[in-house]
Amino acid sequence: MMKCREATQKMSEELERPLTLGEKASVTVHVAMCRPCRNFRRQAAFLRDSMRAYARTPEDDERNPSQ
Ligand SMILES: [Zn+2]
Repeated sequence: MMKCREATQKMSEELERPLTLGEKASVTVHVAMCRPCRNFRRQAAFLRDSMRAYARTPEDDERNPSQ
């Protein structure tokens, strides 16, 4: 089985690029059995969504000036 270090590494890479099917399967198997890595993945997903929301902000500001 993949080590925690490898699993979290793959989950970090997933934020930058799509994982291969093999990588995704390895991570999925690992997090199914490893609670700390499940928590890590949840936080990574939250960070990713936050970054997307942040990236949208400038456009929203142009449409809705707050000053
Ligand atoms: Zn783990």
